[in-house]
Formats: sequence, C-alpha cells, structure tokens
Amino acid sequence: MSGLTVCAPLRVEARALRRGMRAAEGDVGQVEVIRTGYGPVRAAAAAASIGAAAPGQLAVAGVGGALTDDLQVGDIVVASQVTDGSTTVECTSAPLLAGELRRAGLRVRTGPIATVDHLLRRGEHEKLAATGAIAVDMESAPLLAGSAGTPAVVIRAVSDTPGHPVLSPSIVSGGIAALRSLRKAAPVLARWAAATSQRQVLLASPRSFCAGVERAIEIVELALEQYGAPVYVRKQIVHNATVVADLERAGAIFVDELSEVPDGANVVFSAHGVSPEVRTEAERRGLATVDATCPLVAKVHAEARRFASDGYLVALIGHAGHEEVEGTLGEAPASMALVESVADVGNLRPADPGKVAYLMQTTLAADEAAGIVSAITDRFPSATGPGSDDICYATTNRQRAVRAIAAQSDLVLVAGSANSSNSQRLVETAERAGTKAYLVDGAEDIQLGWLAGAEAIGIAAGASAPPAIVGQIVSALSGLGEVRTKDVVVATESVQFGLPKELRQRSAGSANEN
Ligand code: SF4
Repeated sequence: MSGLTVCAPLRVEARALRRGMRAAEGDVGQVEVIRTGYGPVRAAAAAASIGAAAPGQLAVAGVGGALTDDLQVGDIVVASQVTDGSTTVECTSAPLLAGELRRAGLRVRTGPIATVDHLLRRGEHEKLAATGAIAVDMESAPLLAGSAGTPAVVIRAVSDTPGHPVLSPSIVSGGIAALRSLRKAAPVLARWAAATSQRQVLLASPRSFCAGVERAIEIVELALEQYGAPVYVRKQIVHNATVVADLERAGAIFVDELSEVPDGANVVFSAHGVSPEVRTEAERRGLATVDATCPLVAKVHAEARRFASDGYLVALIGHAGHEEVEGTLGEAPASMALVESVADVGNLRPADPGKVAYLMQTTLAADEAAGIVSAITDRFPSATGPGSDDICYATTNRQRAVRAIAAQSDLVLVAGSANSSNSQRLVETAERAGTKAYLVDGAEDIQLGWLAGAEAIGIAAGASAPPAIVGQIVSALSGLGEVRTKDVVVATESVQFGLPKELRQRSAGSANEN
C-alpha cells in the first residue's frame, strides 16, 4: 500500500471523509479511507493489518471529546502527541497541518490527545485535562502504535465538550457539526500527504538574533525586573510578533506614541531609535526613559547630525514609514531627504551640489543600496558617504548566508515577521538568487503546497526572529519524513553591546546591596 491511508473508526466518519475527498478541487492523490472500528481493541487489530501493508502516510481522523471549556463543537483538534498513558507518539508535523486547516476556514487547536478505553464518567474529564490533554478518543493511540517511520497525523473534530457531554441530547447537533468539519478537513489531509518527503534542510548561519536585538530584549527584561511591571515600550521593541507577545506576558505595554504613556511611568525606546523630538517630549513630561536604540542605529543618527551641521544635504537611503528611517530623518529634517529608489535621486535639490552626503538604513539589501549610491555619485560626483558601512554587520552576514543556502535549495523559508525590514530583505535576496522564498512567523505559516516537490529546503532567520522558531520549523518538517540538517556557515559573530547606564547603575546598586 503506498499513498495516504486515513483511519476512521466509525462508518459515519469514514463516509464524511470520503465525501470531503470527492468534493476536493484538484487531484487528492492516492487516498484510501478505511473504517477501523470503535474502541481500542478493534483499533489495535486494524493497525496490525494496516501496518503490514506499509502505507506511505497515515492519518487518523474522527470525532472526539473536548477536555477544555474553550473548545466548541465543530472545532478541529490536531494532535501534537497521542498518549494512552503508557505509550506516547509525537506528531511533529502538527503545526503545518493546523495552519493549513485554519487557512481552509476551520477553527483549530493543537495539543495532546489522550486515548482511553471507555466513555468518560463524571469527574474523569478534569483528571485527564490535568495531564495536559485537550481532547480524548478511544482509538488514536493503538492506530498509531506501529507507525514509527511513517509520517502520521491525528485530527479529531469535537462532538462533545465538558459542558455538553457525550451522553446528552446535544450530542446529535455536536456530532453533525463535527462530521461537517471532518468533511472540510479531508482534502487538507491529502495536501499534508503530498507534502511528505525525506529532505535535506540547509540552515543559514548566522541567523536569528543580532547583538542589537539581544540587547534591546534584555533592556526590557531588566527594566521589568528593576522597576516592576508595567514598563511602557514606545513601538515594538524589535519587529517580531513572538518577542513582543512574550514581553507583553511579562508585563510590557507597547504603545505607538508617548501620549499613550501615563505620567510618571517608565518608558523604553525601541531598538530602531527615536527622533530628538520624541526625546524632548519625554523630557518635557518628566518620563523616566531607557534607550534601547541599537548603537549601530545611533551611529547613523550621529552621522546625520554631523553632515547636516557641516551644511550638507543628506540623502537617507531607506524605506518610507520604517521607524528607524523616521527617527534618523528627525535628526535634521530641514537638511535631509529620503531616497527609496534610483528614481528618487533625480528629485534631490541641494543648495550646493558639491555638498551632498548619503547615509543608509541599517537593514537594507546591500546590492539594492549599491545601485542607489551609484546613481547619487553619478549625479553628484563629490557626494560623500558614511565613515564606515551603515548597513550593519548582522544584516550583511544574514544576506550572505541566505544567498549561500538559496544556491543549494528548492525553497527558502525565512523566519521573521512581516514588519521586519531585515527579514523582508532576506526573502528578496533569496529570490534574486533564483530561489522561491517565503517569510513565516512560525511553522503554522508554512503552506503545504510550497513543500510539495521541495527536497532541499533552506531556512534563514531575520535578526529579530527568535532562534527557537527555526528549531520549531525543523521539527515540523521532520514530521513529514526524515530530515538531514546541515549548517551553511558564512561568518561567525561575536559582537556584544553594553547596557544603557540607567540599568547598569541600578544593577550595580542591587549587587552592592546583596
Ligand atoms: S540589525 Fe543591525 S542595526 Fe538592527 S539591531 Fe541588529 S545589529 Fe543593530
């Protein structure tokens, strides 16, 4: 037997899944839906004959009971693991399947599923939920027991909840909602099967956090520790959804403007820097500030001030609306002009064509910026640039690394948030190297259609993306088939930045007290 085998314990479940497969748009590939029978004993017997036939991929799909109150009938639970108390099977591709089911319009939760050998009695829901399981069934663990080495997933559509248990009149409407969800989920299981493969994964190195991002996150953590929650942060401390959510949980409050910060509060300026106007406003309001501006962004600010005071028109090469660009332009608004493209160079109107300087946003694509610099020096041959590169070491290294993996990959996945400039530039760099690339905040963002036929996958990560995200993506891919990973190292980094004096002084003070 090759292709996808879908195990459905009950006749109605098997029928719903077959209908869903038939209604699917496009080819679902080779799929066999097998009715495996009710309960663990029948499931174990079915698993033995299915295992002997060596399916290409295995999916267990049926209805199940929710163990937590936040699940509703019709929700799909994707198993991160399945356990019967003695044996646990990990389903590491769960985030990939969950993301695809969500994009298909289903409400989805990922978490452990427990398999039991009887219908739950009063009080047993709570006991099982206390183990961390979010749903319960009577067949998944034995059906998966012999699946080692075969890509496998489990989904259960919720038909009953702790508030509407299986032995209640609401089981009829719950069952109908669950079967409707199963039908909708069926073609997604086929797409998951089509994405399975053994793969080589090339990891771009360096990747993830740079020294400026590590410092900015540490500043917020220390501020929370030393001042207590809440600590206000103007703008996202770094452009990453996971980092921001983690710090919010710890007590940070992110605001767009200082007007949202109450009097007397502590406020942190983000790694992207602020204009002098924002600093003046904070001083006027008497706010206690800590500056997490990356020292390499602060260097560009200093260059802008120096050129402007020497009478230059400063062309800032960067992207409109980015916080770093807004902060740098604010250093000398009357003497600076934003240049986003070669075409913008024609709009520069210096009072003295012999006094033109150019600076850059730190996270630009090096090859793109070089074209704009050429246009500036063609038009103003005496134009002068920064003393040392504005595009920072971390941006340069990550772009070199993504170029190296793109050359050897069928597909490149870049971990990073949509508002992260340096992560976006990594996607563009990979695509300019001729390889399709996608930006993902996490494994759930990966569309299964991208993976079909991709045997070598490159993974890079922007300077604001946590390293753990890369680990989660590799783990999710390993649930689709054996993964061989290789680090492609183009540079090693040892840059570290010191903390701002406000936090250093308090740290030293508390150390002395101890
Ligand atoms: S990407 Fe570069 S400029 Fe931005 S925070 Fe990191 S080191 Fe600083």
